[in-house]
Amino acid sequence: MNTQEGLRVLVSSKVLASTVIRLAAEISRDYREKNPLLIGILTGSFVFMADLIRQLDFPLELDFVRLTSYGRSTQTSGCVKIVQGLRSLVKSRHVLVVEDIVDTGTTLAFLLDYLKKKKPASLKLCALLDKPSRRRVPVTIDYLGINVPDKFLVGYGLDCDEKYRNLPDIRVLEE
Ligand code: 5GP
Ligand code: MG
Repeated sequence: MNTQEGLRVLVSSKVLASTVIRLAAEISRDYREKNPLLIGILTGSFVFMADLIRQLDFPLELDFVRLTSYGRSTQTSGCVKIVQGLRSLVKSRHVLVVEDIVDTGTTLAFLLDYLKKKKPASLKLCALLDKPSRRRVPVTIDYLGINVPDKFLVGYGLDCDEKYRNLPDIRVLEE
């Protein structure tokens, strides 16, 4: 197992901070008057969500869902299930889904489809990272942070077997 110090930094904490500020500016422009419901996907998005909402200076509400996809630890299987659902009502709300990373798109396509059936007033997606080369299911990312290469990444909420979430930056686990 690599030590945390041995992993190459792909996105520094400084770049993450400026990316969050840029995304927050875009989101503020569109949602300031809308009291949006931000929905984070646990567990990976919690660090990004925490930094993002502290850059948003208007009324909003938060909720989280926990999804699982069965398969190998570094790959999505295609079978997504909700293991912890929403507490909030989605109907007629302006919903913004907040995700750490879009890979094949399977998880997001499932969740967006699930939420759409609940008839929100609007439904958009904000993702910190995107691996476009891996996409299998099309997903529109309305607010995108950074495109990243096809490497397995950890840190800033992203894990490998529940480790590395506490790294302040994004690092490459496998090279
Ligand atoms: P998708 O359904 O788009 O294939 O996968 C999305 C989920 O897989 C992400 O929310 C994330 O939890 C996980 N994932 C995808 N790529 C990575 C990665 O490079 N590192 C980590 N730690 N998780 C990833
Ligand atoms: Mg995730």
